[in-house]
Amino acid sequence: MAFEGLADRLQQAMKNIRGKGKVSEADVKQMTREVRLALLEADVNFKVVKSFVKTVEARAVGQDVLKSLTPGQQVIKVVQEELTALMGGEQTKINFALKPPTILLFVGLQGAGKTTSAAKLAQYLRKTHNKKPLMIAADIYRPAAIKQLQTLGAQLKIPVFSMGDKVNPVEIVRQGLAQAAADHHDLILIDTAGRLHIDDNLMEELEQIKTISHPDEIFLVVDAMTGQDAVNVASSFHERLGLTGVIMTKLDGDTRGGAALSIRAVTGTPIKFVGMGEKMDALEPFHPDRMASRILGMGDVLSLIEKAQASFDEDKAREMEKKMRDVSFTLDDFLDQIGQVRNMGPLDDLLAMMPGANKLKGMKNLSIDEKKIDQVEAIIRSMTPSEKNDPEIINASRRKRIALGSGTSIADVNRLLKQFKDMKKMMKQFMGQAKGKKRKNPFN
Ligand code: GDP
Repeated sequence: MAFEGLADRLQQAMKNIRGKGKVSEADVKQMTREVRLALLEADVNFKVVKSFVKTVEARAVGQDVLKSLTPGQQVIKVVQEELTALMGGEQTKINFALKPPTILLFVGLQGAGKTTSAAKLAQYLRKTHNKKPLMIAADIYRPAAIKQLQTLGAQLKIPVFSMGDKVNPVEIVRQGLAQAAADHHDLILIDTAGRLHIDDNLMEELEQIKTISHPDEIFLVVDAMTGQDAVNVASSFHERLGLTGVIMTKLDGDTRGGAALSIRAVTGTPIKFVGMGEKMDALEPFHPDRMASRILGMGDVLSLIEKAQASFDEDKAREMEKKMRDVSFTLDDFLDQIGQVRNMGPLDDLLAMMPGANKLKGMKNLSIDEKKIDQVEAIIRSMTPSEKNDPEIINASRRKRIALGSGTSIADVNRLLKQFKDMKKMMKQFMGQAKGKKRKNPFN
């Protein structure tokens, strides 16, 4: 997960203060000292750290916080709110043109992920906003860039306009726009050339493309793994082109997080999307508040729900909810659920969105073993329909048969049956509670 080190350190810094009934100014100072170190270690810009810590401290020692009934939790809430503000506060959405087409320009250094992100976003906006995209291949310098965009376009069934690599990019864009108008595209994504370093010729070319295309968004694509360099690159591009948003890629990697936390504060440009993998659906809108919660180990239940909504069959979900409510959930349903959850992506990524997951992940033996889940699937598949409906009938000889059929042991079968039974018991309790009680405070 992105920011794992930072998340660990920050959660450690909060630990002492979390449950305290009384918090002194010295406690706050101690905590902010640790927060400061954690942020610097994560490669957050030092000026950003300084002002962040100052604000947190000022708010935390303020009258209302320390004198409140739950000072520890209030201090943590201050940190969460300030982290959110640091990353831009509210989610910043795409600027669509009032009169179509909407034109998106992608700029950035070579290898940052421009081509990949352009294709991901084209697909995302087609799906979420019903857009009809055209991608223009204007990167004539990187040998394989045009081919790469064409391949992605073919894979996603999104047309790509290109004129090979012998025509001036400004001309390519001019003709691409004309083509888009002729074919009634309402969304145009322009993939431009990157260089290994910022250079004047490149900037001039981008300025010309900007002048002729009047983009609604100029997205800088930056690689989160490059840390402070990403922030410097953003400042340079912003000065020349006036960026409207940042797409930060490779947040699925082991990044320290510095770039994601500083870029908005240093350049004033919001992160609008984040790349979470190489696959075409691994692009997410960026929500500062959810990211702050994730970093502080409070989880990101909202993103989890959205992921579930995107990959779960709605009718099935409703049916499943009803079954959980009246506890008529069978092993067949369980199997179905496993399949649907797997559709949502790697289990480790999902776990990272659960509140407190960082603490769990710290305990080595709790990491998710996908093989074990294959085993569970195999065991359930080896049962007869009546066994799946009523596991109580599974006696010793049936257990033996199921173990043999699924290539597992009787102990594995027993374990699964017991887990299923416990799960049903828990569901029953939970459903009983859900009717009467209020939700738990997430800061507890
Ligand atoms: P460009 O030169 O800026 O157009 O960069 P590309 O789009 O060719 O991307 C460079 C490499 O980064 C490719 O191998 C991509 O698959 C990879 N990449 C892009 N975005 C992400 C991301 O969010 N996560 C990961 N893991 N890889 C990415």
